[in-house]
Amino acid sequence: MTKMAKHPQPRVWMLNYPLFFRAAHYPWSYPTNISHFGILCGVGWYPIIEALARDVESELRALWREQFHRPDQIAALEYALATGCATFPVLPICTDISQVDGELNVEFQQGSMCPADVAERIRSYIDIAVASSRYICESCGRSGKFRESYWRRVYCDDCLVPEAPLEQAVTPA
Ligand SMILES: [Zn+2]
Repeated sequence: MTKMAKHPQPRVWMLNYPLFFRAAHYPWSYPTNISHFGILCGVGWYPIIEALARDVESELRALWREQFHRPDQIAALEYALATGCATFPVLPICTDISQVDGELNVEFQQGSMCPADVAERIRSYIDIAVASSRYICESCGRSGKFRESYWRRVYCDDCLVPEAPLEQAVTPA
């Protein structure tokens, strides 16, 4: 078995966001949930995640350009790493995307070189994605609602199984 085989291959659209998803693209550098398991939610939420990735990726690219286009910035970063003032990770990184209790869960580490205003914007993009997941069917991506009796997940009417809801199904006739 090769080292690569232990990790899921990132989905094709994830390749458009190389900084946001770098833990998934380079799993050997980042021992995180997304490196080991990929994205853990239904495909209906993928457009929400891609919109989030698009917004955060442009923040990360701007940050990356600011931090690394000048030799003095690289020297400052390397000095900070050498003296322990900068810690892993350097730039913000997404470590986990999953479904928890009918909501999108996005874990992010800020990184030691991320200014507070950028971190705040990233946090607001995540809040928007989480809020919209509450009303989007996790299975198909159309409008949905939270279903207490369907494993506490968000589905539209069409994506519910045709049988009666669970609480009725277990009630003796
Ligand atoms: Zn649906």
